[in-house]
Amino acid sequence: MTVFLVGAGPGDPGLITVRGAEVLARADLVVYDRLSVASLLDLAPAGAERISVGKSPGHASMAQADINALLVARGRTDETVVRLKGGDPFVFARGGEEAAALAAAGVPFEVVPGITSAVAVPAYAGVPVTHRGLATSFTVVTGHEDPWAASETDWDAVARLGASGGTIVVLMGVATRGAIAERLVRGGLAPATPVAAVRWGTRAEQETVRTTLAALGDAALEAPATIVVGPVAGLDLAWFERRPLFGRRIVVTRARQQASALVDRLRGLGAETIELPAIEIADPADGGAALADAATAVAAATYDWVVFTSANTVERLMPRLRDARALGATGVAAIGPGTTAALARFGVAADLVPEESVAEALLDALPGGPGRVLLPQAAVARDVLPRGLAAKGWTVDVVEAYRTVTGSPSPAALDAAATADAITFTSSSTVKNFLAVAGAERLPPVVVCIGPITADTARAAGLPVDVVADAHTIDGLVDAVCRALGA
Ligand code: SAH
Repeated sequence: MTVFLVGAGPGDPGLITVRGAEVLARADLVVYDRLSVASLLDLAPAGAERISVGKSPGHASMAQADINALLVARGRTDETVVRLKGGDPFVFARGGEEAAALAAAGVPFEVVPGITSAVAVPAYAGVPVTHRGLATSFTVVTGHEDPWAASETDWDAVARLGASGGTIVVLMGVATRGAIAERLVRGGLAPATPVAAVRWGTRAEQETVRTTLAALGDAALEAPATIVVGPVAGLDLAWFERRPLFGRRIVVTRARQQASALVDRLRGLGAETIELPAIEIADPADGGAALADAATAVAAATYDWVVFTSANTVERLMPRLRDARALGATGVAAIGPGTTAALARFGVAADLVPEESVAEALLDALPGGPGRVLLPQAAVARDVLPRGLAAKGWTVDVVEAYRTVTGSPSPAALDAAATADAITFTSSSTVKNFLAVAGAERLPPVVVCIGPITADTARAAGLPVDVVADAHTIDGLVDAVCRALGA
């Protein structure tokens, strides 16, 4: 079918384009390089085939001719093939050669440009490649010792551009940085010209070395780095490296559908998140039949109260009511802010929310019976509410609203988890299922729990709990992560 040559951006998974994410989501095959980010590979369907063709230390990479042949062969099938390349596919990435091979073979292809590290990596270090009064152009040049590139690059011309208000961005130049600096000085650039070299830009490992052209050869630098030469490299608009959770890698174990708010908050504070969905939310065993009956009963004004103990139960029951007015005079209780917010999305304001978001507090806050209460719950839930409500004189209908089943995180996510700084647990089932799918040996050094019940489950399983959130909400959990990591 079509082969998509997709730019993955420089590393931060948020820096892939909308189009790139779209085609990845329907890929049958992803052909990727060593520098590719695990969470981007996770955008492809779980069943998609993934082939690594990149170099890694000690392992030979696939020859370019073989990569071209692979893309042509698989592009001729009816599969959707994504060739994922770091940064932009046409900037020092041999994407042009792949496109040429596909064109020659008559295989349709689409190029999805990416955010190149040449611009984005300096930006994440607070270095604008052009700046009014400092730089009117920027030149991106390879420092690779490829004999073709080495003989083609006119370093004197590059130096002249640099000497007349141009920024020079060198990719693949770590090994040759001394020679490059020498050539540029010989070509007329001042030895005191500022240099910023950024390693692993846009990632948790980002590191910026600031030096001068004269000292570049001796500067401690390792690949992969983007080297910026010119007055703009003397600007320090650093922002990314100053975020409170910068450089920290944090595992999120929530179900994929529920993880985004936590992931967004942690990333916004500069953390790298590793999504390892330990649980998945599935339909109840009866396919939702009992819940549909319960919804009909609600509409018939059967219940005095409907008690919601999670956003999940709201999201499962409310659509079956079709119209929020079906609740009529029925009281609506919600365990906490997440559940309240879910209700608000259906236009319902909770009548009762306890101070502390735990079942015991909800039970205390509810009045006594007699009457009838609907309690939609997960298939396996604590019995505090059913028992407590019965003791308060209520007739309680417990209805299974959803099941949490063990998730199937990708091998890449499992590997990444083992190197993380901290892990977040948002329910007892995330604790149990994390241990089932990842094992205690992959547990990061710092454990943060959303509330006391989750923490008890973790302790009972032998996990050391470092911090329990004061407010049992996503914001409370994020605060707890910051506290646990001293941020
Ligand atoms: N097509 C890519 C560039 C591939 S060449 C792009 O458009 O970004 C590979 C070189 O890019 C590396 O040697 C390094 O110089 C630079 N590079 C890629 N990712 C980087 C990152 N995260 N941080 C710093 N430099 C990076």
